[in-house]
Amino acid sequence: MAPIVTPAVASRAIYREIGLYGAERERCALDLSDNTNLWGMPPAAAAAAQAAAIGATRYPGVYARGLKAALASYLGVEPEMIVTGCGSDDVIDSAIRAFADPGATFAHLDPTFPMAATFARMNGLVPIAVPLTASYDADADALLATNARIIYLCSPNNPTGTLVSRATIERVVAGAPGIVMLDEAYAEFAGVSAVDLLARSDRLLITRTLSKAFGLAGLRVGYAAGAPALVAEVEKSRGPYKVNVVAEQAAYAALTDDAAWVAEHVALARTYRDRFAAELATIAGFTVVPSHGNFVYAALAAGARPVSVLTRALCARGVGVRPYSGLGLPIGAEGIRTTIGPWPMMEQCLAALRAEAECDG
Ligand code: PMP
Repeated sequence: MAPIVTPAVASRAIYREIGLYGAERERCALDLSDNTNLWGMPPAAAAAAQAAAIGATRYPGVYARGLKAALASYLGVEPEMIVTGCGSDDVIDSAIRAFADPGATFAHLDPTFPMAATFARMNGLVPIAVPLTASYDADADALLATNARIIYLCSPNNPTGTLVSRATIERVVAGAPGIVMLDEAYAEFAGVSAVDLLARSDRLLITRTLSKAFGLAGLRVGYAAGAPALVAEVEKSRGPYKVNVVAEQAAYAALTDDAAWVAEHVALARTYRDRFAAELATIAGFTVVPSHGNFVYAALAAGARPVSVLTRALCARGVGVRPYSGLGLPIGAEGIRTTIGPWPMMEQCLAALRAEAECDG
C-alpha cells in the first residue's frame, strides 16, 4: 500500500499557498474564455499530427532540433537562439528557474498573465507587482526601481490587450540589472514585436507560443528566443523530450506550410476584435479597453452585479467569458475578457451581453 503523506509534509512550504489554475471554471456551450484560435487547427498541422501519431512508440528529438530551425526562420534568428517547451508556460517556468535562485525577486506588470507570478513563487522567487501606467504602458521607472533579478513584461498584455511601448521595452532592457522576459504570446495579433532587439541585448528573453495564432493550444508548443548563452541555460532547466512527437510534427508543418492560413485568421481576428469592441462599447455598463490581442477586456461599471454573477448568467445563456476581479485598474476592479472568433460566435456573445444588460437596466 502506498504510504500516506499529508500535503503539509510532502510539499514545499510555498505550495500550501498556491492553488490549482482555473480549477473552479464553469464549462459553457460557447467557450470564449481562453484566447485560443476559435477557427480551429491549421490544415497542414492537422494532417501532420495524424500522421505523426504512428511514431509515438519512440521518444521525440531530445531538444526538438528540426522545430527549432523552423521557429528560427519564422522569427529571423539563428537556431541556437531558440528553446522550445511544453507550451510557453513551461518555457516561462524553466527560464525563471534557470535565471534566479530561490529568494530572488521577480517584477511583473499588474495586472498581467497570472501564471508568471505563480511560476515565480513555485520556484521560490518573490513576486513584485508593478501597476500599469494610466495609459496601460509598463512603468519603466517603477520596474527598474525594484532592482529585480527578473523583470517580466507582457505585450500585448493579458488581460488588458494593451501594448508595452517600444520606448519602455528599450528602457527596461537597457537599465535592468538582471534578465528581462518579454511575453509575446499574442504578438501575431498586434503585428509588432521586439525580436529585433535580441541583436542588441544579451539579457532579453522573448517567449512565444503556438497556442494562439497557430491554433495548437492542445498540443502545448511554446518557445523562447534569446542570446545563445541565455537559451542554453533555459534548455538545461527545461530538460529533455518536452515537445512530444505529435506536437513537434504538427508545429513544424504549421510553421512551414500553414503561413497563409495563419495570416488569414489573424487578419479576421483583428477585424472582428475591433468590430466586437465597438459593439460592446455601446452596451451600458462596459468600459472597453482598446486591444492588440485576439481578445477584448471590458471593465464593469461601479455598482454593477459582481462579475461572477454576470458570468454565471452569461454561461446560462450558453456563452463563457473570463471573469476578473480585484484588478488595480483605474477603470474598475472587475471586468470580463472575451476571446475573438468567427463573427457568428461574437454575435451570440453580444446578444447574451445585451440581454443581461437589459435585465440590469
Ligand atoms: N503567456 C500569456 C500572456 C498567455 O496569455 C498564455 C496563455 N493564456 C501563456 C503565456 C501560456 O500559453 P501556452 O502555455 O499555451 O503557450
